[in-house]
Amino acid sequence: MFEVVIGLEIHAQLNTKTKIFCSCATSFGENPNTNVCPVCLALPGALPVLNKEAVKKAISFGTAINATVNKRSIFNRKNYFYPDLPKAYQISQFEIPIVEKGEVYIDLEDGTTKRIGVTRAHLEEDAGKNIHEANTSSVDLNRAGTPLLEIVSEPDLRSSNEAILYLKKIHAILRYINISDANMQEGSFRCDANVSIRPKGDTKLYQRVEIKNLNSFRFIQKAIDFEVERQSEAWTDGVYDKEVVQETRLFNIETGETRSMRSKEDSAEYRYFPDPDLLPVILSDDMIDECSKIPELPDEKKARYVKELGVKPYDAGVITSSVELAKYFEEMIGFGASPKNSVSWLSVELLGRLGNGVGVENSPVKASKLAALVKRIEDGTVSGKAAKDILDFLMQNDEDIDQVIDKLGLKQVSDDGAIIAIIDAVLSANADKANELKNGKEKLFGFFVGQVMKESKGAANPSKVNELLKDKLGLK
Ligand code: ADP
Ligand code: MG
Ligand code: ZN
Repeated sequence: MFEVVIGLEIHAQLNTKTKIFCSCATSFGENPNTNVCPVCLALPGALPVLNKEAVKKAISFGTAINATVNKRSIFNRKNYFYPDLPKAYQISQFEIPIVEKGEVYIDLEDGTTKRIGVTRAHLEEDAGKNIHEANTSSVDLNRAGTPLLEIVSEPDLRSSNEAILYLKKIHAILRYINISDANMQEGSFRCDANVSIRPKGDTKLYQRVEIKNLNSFRFIQKAIDFEVERQSEAWTDGVYDKEVVQETRLFNIETGETRSMRSKEDSAEYRYFPDPDLLPVILSDDMIDECSKIPELPDEKKARYVKELGVKPYDAGVITSSVELAKYFEEMIGFGASPKNSVSWLSVELLGRLGNGVGVENSPVKASKLAALVKRIEDGTVSGKAAKDILDFLMQNDEDIDQVIDKLGLKQVSDDGAIIAIIDAVLSANADKANELKNGKEKLFGFFVGQVMKESKGAANPSKVNELLKDKLGLK
């Protein structure tokens, strides 16, 4: 049998206001070639000046993944020709990146945690975009010079699932420390997947292919799965050497297949050399200290929720998977809802109602309101079931909780007298069954709870009903 070996290269756009080597804006969606200047247009004589903000963000990332931050790193020219690269070289880092030897942890389905090594994270500039229309192709250089952090993993991932968990963890970290918006639709979080297989037990690395520019978690998973299948079949059919060669492949979203795009270049072909226009990047201790102060990270938050708030590990993983969810959750608790109910009303009820692709930050029901609803369950004003109807209503109407409860007539009856009256009525209407129950036919208890709830039109507080029924029947 085969073992799958995957290493990922992630390109994250850093959310600086200006480009990495000039002062042009990095804003997305502008008219073509409006955010440009002599530097990013590569006009002769224009010189790059390094944007300190990009460097700071890279240092913060290094801290977040427990990596070595090199106090001295250098920029290289990576030479190749393409229309979206007017200088005919990309400024990148090669032999000394700013960040190396880091790690992140992923939570596997069996409850264990796995360490994934991060080989390096280096700064580089993005290229422009080629736009192909019916009879013309044109180039938009607005994106040229946007700062990227390229994050390269060790080949430690053993399945497409692990690859996705790793990607999501990096995605979350970037957003927690606010160095990238990591928006996949806008291309600010892109990934190349390197995939190979090998016989189980073997430790050497086999031939890998690189699948380029995957921009959704679902496509990345599909592309890897297809590629693993293709390589396994080639092996089984005895054509591995012919079919699995060092190459770059593209994933076709329509067919779900990868196909060969070009044979993969070796790094020697890029003729890397230190960029003579840029000095080495020297980091002061002060700058490293300053950038090492980062907010609480997903793993730390998760551990804290489990330890201090009693949240189950799985739920804590869900809540901390994005910085917005964690923020929403903490706000709910701040407004006095219990952690346990906040978890379920946020992760099950609210997320279930928001639908795909809508983040809690865009929820029509804000944390303060969901917390208020949870508190009304906790103080017995409404039942959990009624609260679901109330939440449905709140998704459409921004109204005051207590007014909504009144308006929908969903106030729970917790008043003993009112419930006892219903119990008495139900018991006398079903006197035979009541006797059977008193004589030990315990199964009938549920029947009576159901009848009382029905008589109250669902408004009775179920735990009160249970308690008072037991009293009445002497069943303590
Ligand atoms: P390049 O820069 O030419 O793409 P690298 O050696 O820097 O090549 O590796 C890039 C990525 O490929 C890394 O994430 C690494 O873990 C991964 N990788 C290298 N060899 C293999 C392999 N045999 N199978 C799967 N992934 C691999
Ligand atoms: Mg590569
Ligand atoms: Zn510019």
